[in-house]
Amino acid sequence: MNKSLVLCNAPFNSIVITPEQTVRPCCKYASDLGDLNKQTIAEILASTTVKNLQKDMYAHIWPKACEECKISEEIYGQSVRLRLGTTSRTKQGCVNITYLEISSSNVCNLSCAGCSTRFSSGWLKYAKVIEKTTDTEFYRSIIQEAPIIKPDNKLLIKNLTELDLTHCIDIYFKGGEPLMNTDMLAALRYFDEIDILRKIIIRMDTSGAVIIDKTINETIALLCKAKQVNFNISVDGPEDVQTYIRYSAKNMASLDNMRNFISVFEKNNITFMVAPTIMVYNIFSLDKLIEWWFYEMRPAFKHLTLDIYLFNFLIGPDYLSLRALQPATISKLIDYYNNIIKTKAYGSVFSHLPDALKNIEYGGDKLHNQMVKYTLDMDKIKGQSIYKSIPELTDEMVLI
Ligand code: SF4
Repeated sequence: MNKSLVLCNAPFNSIVITPEQTVRPCCKYASDLGDLNKQTIAEILASTTVKNLQKDMYAHIWPKACEECKISEEIYGQSVRLRLGTTSRTKQGCVNITYLEISSSNVCNLSCAGCSTRFSSGWLKYAKVIEKTTDTEFYRSIIQEAPIIKPDNKLLIKNLTELDLTHCIDIYFKGGEPLMNTDMLAALRYFDEIDILRKIIIRMDTSGAVIIDKTINETIALLCKAKQVNFNISVDGPEDVQTYIRYSAKNMASLDNMRNFISVFEKNNITFMVAPTIMVYNIFSLDKLIEWWFYEMRPAFKHLTLDIYLFNFLIGPDYLSLRALQPATISKLIDYYNNIIKTKAYGSVFSHLPDALKNIEYGGDKLHNQMVKYTLDMDKIKGQSIYKSIPELTDEMVLI
């Protein structure tokens, strides 16, 4: 069994370049280690901020910025920390990069529930029309009005050239939407030039709701040089749930568009993973999502590997997390998934779900009411209807 040497490997082995062009140890860490517009990446990694964080990790002290991992482990027994490991032997003061995440722009054409202008430029037009009252403060502080950050290929490559990537084994493109971010192709060209692609697993979070442009052939050719390529495609539920959560006025994230997107890569060795963000809107219909993925998509793309991951429980924003649902609803959901498990219709894919649901502690009436308020306000702003798209949530849509 692996012995825990540090609280978390991330500050020793992992770097994330955020949409604000700052550096963090992982995507869940709620603070910046430095700003690439003011410092070089080498300066940031050698800073006292990084050294102090590493010191906490050696002392097994949970930094405040790591709260999301802590909460996720307490409720669901899962976290990015547990995925990244706790056995790093990298010396304090050094960063030996094995994992690199590039989310260097927030350009995206969707305005997904639970997302914000930090990660999607598509949210900005909706953020601007939200009523500025104390009642909306709880979600305005999350959605924010972050400016659109366009890719800056020169800045990214300049910083990548300062890194020793010889031990890097995992590179993850997130966003914004990576396929709308020209930094992705610039980075792939650079990784090819320094000849590291063949030993790297490339992962990408993509909405799949993108217009495929003329650069796709070069992108595919470079991706195919990697040791392995995994796309996490953003599908969160059956058609109405999917287009409700992954919102765009033109329904860009429809399941038909997802299928068309996957077909572009049909002849390439790419693994597609559906890892829905489990939240108040899709917890009622995960079986229908599985039905589509297992029984429509898998037979349609026999040569592709189509995986599924049902452990991605939304923690924040907390008003869309399962903690916002009343205990009676959670009880019904436990029965619902227990009955599905009994039928053995989908193998063991749901076996963990009843226990995960049992662990949920109701966040209280205030949180529940925030979920109702956010949902109804967004329906008005975006022109959606929760009752039409997710009728199973109707009983919950009452202020307590
Ligand atoms: S504990 Fe979690 S938030 Fe903190 S550095 Fe590790 S992975 Fe990131």
